[in-house]
Amino acid sequence: MPAMLDAVVVGAGPNGLTAAVELARRGFSVAVFEACGTVGGGARTEELTLPGFRHDPCSAAHPLGVNSPVFRTMPLDRYGLRWLHADLPMAHPFTDGTAAVLSRSVAETAASFGPRDAGTYRRLVEPFVPRWDTLLRDFMSLPSTALPRDPVTLARFGLAGLPPATWLLRRFRDERAKALLSGLVAHVIAPLDGLATGAVGLVFALAAHARGWPVVRGGSQSLSDALAAYLKDLGGAVHTDYEVKRLDDLPPARAYVFDTSPAALARIAGFGHHYESYRYGAGVFKVDYALDGPVPWTAKEARAAGTVQVAADHEEIGTALHAASRAGRAPEVPFLITVQPSTVDPTRAPDGKHVFWAYGHVPNGWSGDLTDAIERQLERFAPGFRDRVLARATAGPPQLAARNANYVGGDIACGAASGLQLLLRPKLSLFPYNTPHPAVFLCSSATPPGPGVHGMPGHNAAKAVWRHLHRTPAGRAAGERVAGERTEKRA
Ligand SMILES: Cc1cc2nc3c(=O)[nH]c(=O)nc-3n(C[C@H](O)[C@H](O)[C@H](O)COP(=O)(O)OP(=O)(O)OC[C@H]3O[C@@H](n4cnc5c(N)ncnc54)[C@H](O)[C@@H]3O)c2cc1C
Repeated sequence: MPAMLDAVVVGAGPNGLTAAVELARRGFSVAVFEACGTVGGGARTEELTLPGFRHDPCSAAHPLGVNSPVFRTMPLDRYGLRWLHADLPMAHPFTDGTAAVLSRSVAETAASFGPRDAGTYRRLVEPFVPRWDTLLRDFMSLPSTALPRDPVTLARFGLAGLPPATWLLRRFRDERAKALLSGLVAHVIAPLDGLATGAVGLVFALAAHARGWPVVRGGSQSLSDALAAYLKDLGGAVHTDYEVKRLDDLPPARAYVFDTSPAALARIAGFGHHYESYRYGAGVFKVDYALDGPVPWTAKEARAAGTVQVAADHEEIGTALHAASRAGRAPEVPFLITVQPSTVDPTRAPDGKHVFWAYGHVPNGWSGDLTDAIERQLERFAPGFRDRVLARATAGPPQLAARNANYVGGDIACGAASGLQLLLRPKLSLFPYNTPHPAVFLCSSATPPGPGVHGMPGHNAAKAVWRHLHRTPAGRAAGERVAGERTEKRA
């Protein structure tokens, strides 16, 4: 390790690793320090239940990962990353045995909403489909990290997405579209009547039409391992089992980049009350299952989907979200997000067996047990589910927070996705990656564009860091070295 590093990154989640890669590939010396024994943060894989059953304790479905503007610039396939697609990205079954679907095809999705809503859906999403890559990059670079490449499409998207999701739902007449779209908004635990929640639903839908909602072959850990291996090839170092409690725990560096919660950063860097107004949101209660066979969904579409949303209608989703995020109680009938990776990835479970996860929303810090309510809800849509359970591993807010300090009170979004904080986080600032100290930066999902495994907060923060480093003589020298190597390669 050089006596003075260019950058030290605290936390090896998708955003910490992305920030480190982005700096290393611009010629800066980087070392990452991670509290856990393995890299990955919210993108890991473990045998949580029985031998041979490989579960993703956190993220499993990757609509934002496969579409990520920054991951798509990295040669992660060379380091073992393989996206695996189910026949359908997502399905939303109903109690009558039918389902609405989110398909790669806009037409198939629209048709599943029924004749009264099919045209409305097509008119809503079709203008954005051909411009998706530019739109996503522009959207994920807000508020100020890059000038929009297509400001007109971004503005049109803003008109459709900035109002609350409840406004978007009013365009639809039947339950099928309303339930599926409400469920999409709930993926970031946003209240349906919150500002810009329409955009959340649209982003997930457009992501499916563009590149699907895949899982990672071997588990989400393979994505993190690919990022770490690429980083090491670029000369970066990764240190695990190293919890950072004070800045003094870290080696000398020109910049410090934190893939942590704002509260942890303030504690470690001594920023006092700087992030005190930052709010954490509802938590989740998650169950990982080892199953004797596939989930016996009544709806055939659910059997063909990677992700399945579980709620009878959009009101059930709204009530469950309201209970967990506003009323401070666990929902009696939880809205479930479920993923069934082994339907497409045979490496996850022994022959004929399956891994499956489901979570519902609960109040921040809640310490009860939602298992029975989750399984009662599953039985409504997949009768006989309980008979297939070989083993289960449960994790509520206290366990999730103990596993990863970023999930404060079990909030898997590392900060409430409500009010202005959905878009402008962790403070109302055009420079959200900067902190009170000019050499300290924040890159976790508490910064824009927020939660999910896509690395864009890490990429955006790295830009702020390399601007800072270029202002120092050593930073300029690193930049000139890379520019020189590129010219040599071109010659
Ligand atoms: C149950 C669950 C299901 C999810 N499902 C999905 C999904 O299907 N798809 C999806 O896209 N997203 C999903 N997510 C969200 C996704 O995992 C996160 O948004 C994403 O991982 C955030 O990345 P990050 O790098 O900001 O932080 P994290 O992934 O949380 O990583 C932060 C890292 O920093 C480390 N760290 C924290 N403090 C310190 C310290 N003081 N010293 C050293 N290291 C420290 C942590 O140990 C951790 O490894 C899910 C999350 C959970 C918990």
